[in-house]
Amino acid sequence: MLASRLKKLLLTKPILIASLTEVEKVCGKPTCRCRRGLKHHATQLTYQHQGKTHSMYVPADFAEEVRSWIEEHHQLQQRLREISELSLMLVRSHAQERKRQQSRGPS
Ligand SMILES: [Zn+2]
Repeated sequence: MLASRLKKLLLTKPILIASLTEVEKVCGKPTCRCRRGLKHHATQLTYQHQGKTHSMYVPADFAEEVRSWIEEHHQLQQRLREISELSLMLVRSHAQERKRQQSRGPS
């Protein structure tokens, strides 16, 4: 069971530890409609780097791809948790086995 979980860890796409939020923004053009309140919608990527929070805009046609990389990280976290649970069971069963051997006494 543990071996099959470990195999599932093979990564098939980039992993991104970040989050995406939809934001409204005003561009630089003085005559643009966004100056009259019709703001542009943009996708902002927020991530941590060296303890600081950074953000950048993601091109609209690329946002879904980036979203799937973030989702990949969440799934990876879930898989790591499952593997940790199984590994914990291994430690537990080894400890119980050792106890049983000791209670039988030296042969
Ligand atoms: Zn604009």
